[in-house]
Amino acid sequence: MTLRIGIDLGGTKIEAAAIDPTGRIQLRQRIATPTGDYDGTIAALADLVARIERAIGATASVGVGMPGTIVAETGLVKNSNSTWLNHRPLGRDVEAALGRPVRFANDANCFALSEAIDGAAAGCGTVFGAILGTGVGGGIVIGGRLLIGANAIAGEWGHNPLPAPEPDEIPGPACYCGRSGCIETFLSGPGLAADHRRHGGGDLAGPQIAAGAAAGDRQCRASLDRYATRLARALASVINLIDPDAIVLGGGLSACTMLYEEVPRRWGRHILSDRVVTRLVPPAHGDSSGVRGAAWLWPPDEGQ
Ligand SMILES: [Zn+2]
Repeated sequence: MTLRIGIDLGGTKIEAAAIDPTGRIQLRQRIATPTGDYDGTIAALADLVARIERAIGATASVGVGMPGTIVAETGLVKNSNSTWLNHRPLGRDVEAALGRPVRFANDANCFALSEAIDGAAAGCGTVFGAILGTGVGGGIVIGGRLLIGANAIAGEWGHNPLPAPEPDEIPGPACYCGRSGCIETFLSGPGLAADHRRHGGGDLAGPQIAAGAAAGDRQCRASLDRYATRLARALASVINLIDPDAIVLGGGLSACTMLYEEVPRRWGRHILSDRVVTRLVPPAHGDSSGVRGAAWLWPPDEGQ
């Protein structure tokens, strides 16, 4: 039986799993990331794969999910918050250490792929995976394949301006990217927390506001209500562009159950279709999406 190894290369931990062709996880491993140490990171990845392959008694395909992307023309990492990887030929070095081709994708893309292949959007032709966490990211899967794009930024909607802004949303909060009013400044966990503060709700983190709203707190409800309306506008522009069968939410705020009813109720007026069949769904795989999506970078129909 052919197995796939998926690796989630995080800033503090490296997680790996071997999955079988039906998507069942056979084995999991987790180690601390050699933070700040590039050569150590390569060695740790090679060691992790060797250990898993000893345990399963076979060689496997290897996919890696990571923060940031590898630029196709140069082979160098860019935009990674694991800064010691930036400007390094991570792909080439890992392939040399393992003696085989290895596929890489950023973690938002791995999330989208995991949910599209055998998760909440299994069987859907076009899928948008939207991460609503510390940041706002996204990935697009069409026909079981990730859309990467000419600049390797396909799906990165977090730094588009919030669509159809209200007067009090202009110019919007300053974003670290240098712009103002980015979707991320409203729809990330810290963005929700800042909005709650601006409206006099005090100092609460995003998930606490969601919990407060569920418990009936009036100010938390008002903040979450604004959040749902903004998310509806932001996702409507995604629907107008790629018209997905399903949108899967990920990240900490995907646990907020009211969004799955309220957002589709509110997005219609911004979508150029009298009937909208796109489904908004919670993730099926939770924290396992990183390793699962990385493993599926070698797709089920690709001869394995
Ligand atoms: Zn921005």
